[in-house]
Amino acid sequence: MRITGVEIVPVKLPLLEPFVVSYGTFPDLATVLVRLETDRGLTGWGEGTPDPHVTGETFEGLAATLRHLAPALLGRDPLDRSTAMRLLGSRVAGVPTAKAALDIALHDLAGHVAGLPVWALLGGRARETLSISRVISLKSPEAMAIDATRYVAAGFRTVKLKVGDPRDIRGDMQRVAAVREAIGADIGIKIDVNGAWRTAGVAVGAARGIATYEPEYVEQPVDRRDLEGMAEVRRLCGVPVMADEAVLDAYDALRAVRVRACDLINIKLMKCGGLLAALMLNAVAETAGVGCQIGTMVESSVASAAGLHLALALHNAATVEMGGPIMLAEDVSSLRAYYERNRITVPDGPGLAVEPDEAVLQRYAVARDWITA
Ligand code: MG
Repeated sequence: MRITGVEIVPVKLPLLEPFVVSYGTFPDLATVLVRLETDRGLTGWGEGTPDPHVTGETFEGLAATLRHLAPALLGRDPLDRSTAMRLLGSRVAGVPTAKAALDIALHDLAGHVAGLPVWALLGGRARETLSISRVISLKSPEAMAIDATRYVAAGFRTVKLKVGDPRDIRGDMQRVAAVREAIGADIGIKIDVNGAWRTAGVAVGAARGIATYEPEYVEQPVDRRDLEGMAEVRRLCGVPVMADEAVLDAYDALRAVRVRACDLINIKLMKCGGLLAALMLNAVAETAGVGCQIGTMVESSVASAAGLHLALALHNAATVEMGGPIMLAEDVSSLRAYYERNRITVPDGPGLAVEPDEAVLQRYAVARDWITA
């Protein structure tokens, strides 16, 4: 069997409400779908969701990179996934989100060929279902408390607060305090700073300040390049520290565990370059005694499904955050139907078992490129 064509479909999907983090506001979800086609008529879908602040890849740049990479897959056996990914690695350095899109499509395709779900290709089921936390955008303390109350009423048992106002650390403490006051002691709170506290000096004070509200962890408290600073926060603040922007791939993870920078690592397919690269990253973390979370750039059904399949397969992935499908006003497929309050599973069937709806693609595609021999 050979890959005979690659379709690249950049889309902009409407979000239910703008997503706000410390470095920006996102009015819609700009993401790029890819479809691999074979000479046997089987297809595989993938998705790359760019976050320029994290990997340096833009929406337009991602589509261009995919056009550059796609010819390398033409004529190749889709089952040789690791060889294909090495080939892509030798064509362009970096660009993990572009590579993740193609890696996900190769796994979907391999699942269709084998008649197996992707989780079975990744080692089998480590757990039956997953539960997710609900992310809350950075707003005023009062507005975040209202959002948290709404999500807890909807069945979520953990909320994740986006904080990180470097001009107002006290405001961040007030955000956490207001949410804890509103939802009570039994609901989990996670804190994501997205690096905005910058330095260990500021972050230690802020993290100690919020420790009293018993967060499960504080994520990326300092600048991504400052692993020693993150290690210092971890030693001094009394709250578990999760690395996100600081750890893109297995090589970053190795450096982080060497200096004991974190208790946890947030694995995102868009940061590490796909499912094969995520297995490698997790192997480093698990060997070092560091737990993992499967996180998201806020992706549509295709990449979210890939993340869920990975989370089902990893014993070391205690938490998962594939919130994209419940944040979209319109999605390319119906993964949302598998979200029951905070409990999630994946559709039965081979591959990702998620098929984009052609009518939705036509409505939201900003371009369509078909690359063939
Ligand atoms: Mg994060």
